[in-house]
Amino acid sequence: MWSSSHHNPVFLLQNSQARLETLAHDADFLARYDGVIRAFDAYLANEGSWFKKAHPDFKGAIAYFSAEFGVHNSLRIYSGGLGILAGDHCKTASDLGVPLVGVGFMYPQGYGQQRISSDGWQQNVFEHIDWNNSPVRPRLSPAGERFIIDIGWGSWKLRVAVWEVVVGRMRLYLMDTNVEGNSIPDREISGRLYGGDKTMRLRQEIVLGIGGVRVLRALNVPAAVFHANEGHCSFLFLELARERVGAGRSFKEAVLDISSSTVFTTHTPVEAGHDVFDEQLVAEYFKTYLTELGLSQDQFLDFGRVGGESGWNMTALALKLSGRRNAVSRRHGIVSRHMWSKLWPGVPEEKAPIAHVTNGVHLATWVQQDLAWTFTKYLGEDWWDKQDDAALWSRVAAIPDDELWMVHQRNKEEWFKVLRSRARNRWISGYADSSQVLAQGSLLDSSALTVGFARRFASYKRANLILHDLSRLKALLLDQWRPLQIVFAGKAHPADDLGKALIQQIYRLAKDPAFGGRIVFVEDYDMHVARYFVQGCDLWLNNPLAPLEACGTSGEKAAVNGVPSLSVLDGWWEEGYNGNNGWAIGACGGRGSGEDADAADAKDIYESLEKNIIPLYYDQGPDRVPRGWVKVMKESIRSVAPQFGGNRMVKEYVDKLYAPAEALVKI
Ligand SMILES: *Cc1c(COP(=O)(O)O)cnc(C)c1O
Repeated sequence: MWSSSHHNPVFLLQNSQARLETLAHDADFLARYDGVIRAFDAYLANEGSWFKKAHPDFKGAIAYFSAEFGVHNSLRIYSGGLGILAGDHCKTASDLGVPLVGVGFMYPQGYGQQRISSDGWQQNVFEHIDWNNSPVRPRLSPAGERFIIDIGWGSWKLRVAVWEVVVGRMRLYLMDTNVEGNSIPDREISGRLYGGDKTMRLRQEIVLGIGGVRVLRALNVPAAVFHANEGHCSFLFLELARERVGAGRSFKEAVLDISSSTVFTTHTPVEAGHDVFDEQLVAEYFKTYLTELGLSQDQFLDFGRVGGESGWNMTALALKLSGRRNAVSRRHGIVSRHMWSKLWPGVPEEKAPIAHVTNGVHLATWVQQDLAWTFTKYLGEDWWDKQDDAALWSRVAAIPDDELWMVHQRNKEEWFKVLRSRARNRWISGYADSSQVLAQGSLLDSSALTVGFARRFASYKRANLILHDLSRLKALLLDQWRPLQIVFAGKAHPADDLGKALIQQIYRLAKDPAFGGRIVFVEDYDMHVARYFVQGCDLWLNNPLAPLEACGTSGEKAAVNGVPSLSVLDGWWEEGYNGNNGWAIGACGGRGSGEDADAADAKDIYESLEKNIIPLYYDQGPDRVPRGWVKVMKESIRSVAPQFGGNRMVKEYVDKLYAPAEALVKI
């Protein structure tokens, strides 16, 4: 039940009453149960947390706004990297005792699933979710009724209900507009993540930013710092200003005031990743609201403009109104300062006030369990608390090669087992023909060097780059003694036909007997499958068009599991690559775009594989342990875990961005 529910604890508990009653009389089970509960209670009660020690005077809470939160697969309120990062941020904040509360959306209509048709075309199947089987509860008022507040203005009556998710020591408040009394269109505002047209999106972002602040106020959350995770939440800054104007300050004073307690993180250099709304649309929705700010329509609209050009840009709004701004890797910091320096005329580009905090991943979520035990054995019980201490990780050298290799081999087999079981389920349910069952990975061979490529199919990620020279690739795949396998997964945006065409190109090869079942495409990439991918493959391939990868986190997840990257030197890899912990494609900053750059990058990939990666992997002694390869695995764990774990990231957010903000508020 655990595995068929994709590890949903709520579903498991609600559907195993009889079994639980039996176990209630099983002394062994109860002893283990007590042990787990004790450990959990100790976690919740931990008074000696890092935050208390590092910032004893900090008062109040940090309100973290995000359109999506990827906390766990059983709570389908995320779409991809941005959400997973938000989830990892929350879980790490809980671990460190950071007083963070999350603000986001409950998406009552559910979640889009990916199915691939027999000819390789992505279908979007909409799945309704039974929220009773998810770890979320309606927030109730003290009187025991649904907690619902009005957040509309002027003639717009809009009510939101609040749901609550408990993430360790922190809380996530999720808004839901599917409430009695709302108009039908308003009920659908929180229906689907990124659903609908521009108007719908604007309405969603109004609820997220403005509604979110009002919900926090109504819940009496003592928010001292407000953090907008990406431009979807930027309206929160307007609402904070409006509160101050309402208290008698001028708009100018209000803006100055809020800048001391606000943080904004930008997440992408890709133009299409920034919401820009038609000014007319914004003016229409904010007609009454802007008078409460004491601004004329033109003054108001100017806050959304970039360089005087028409258009309401949510990122520009946040950059102008927030006090501290950051990008998500060193390279992305440089790129963002270049992109946005026009917002600070007269300031030299390198001085544009956008810092960076490189993304990291929550190790407890992503490090495979047996490997975590191996770390406990060789690094010590407290590796977990000391995870950002580089010295600790030098002890990875003490793990015997064959032990690490065995754990990895088991993870790989576990991954293939999951893929086969998914393929079998498709087969049984009648959705797949036999060639699709093969395309989904039923022929995968656990002794072959296996490359993982899984991420959104946005065109800048160049999923088909490794297919550039098919005959050269085919020779590697079909090598009798040293074969290569590639497992792909990822979703294209429902409106992105180019992305879907990339999937189709790969899918056709996966079904083509000429490629020997050594190219695989796995449907419906999500957080659950992602864990098996990053824990089970041998090599993580990432070849975006630099410098468009803001950070990329899946390579970090792989690296901490001993899976090295073959990656373009962009995003985190430019900081993480040290010459011994994986392989680089191209040079720092990339080769630019175009046919020639693609060809040169593809050539790098083939050469690395042919000359370095494949020979190293297959250089196995009589015990079949590839010692040279294991050395790279260890170096990957040693160098990446302390620097790209969640603790390093969240501590940096606290020290650089949250704590100084709060200090100013007190003055
Ligand atoms: C980590 C993760 C991502 C982010 O991937 P990148 O392309 O490396 O940023 C996307 N989707 C899922 C399901 C993930 O787990």
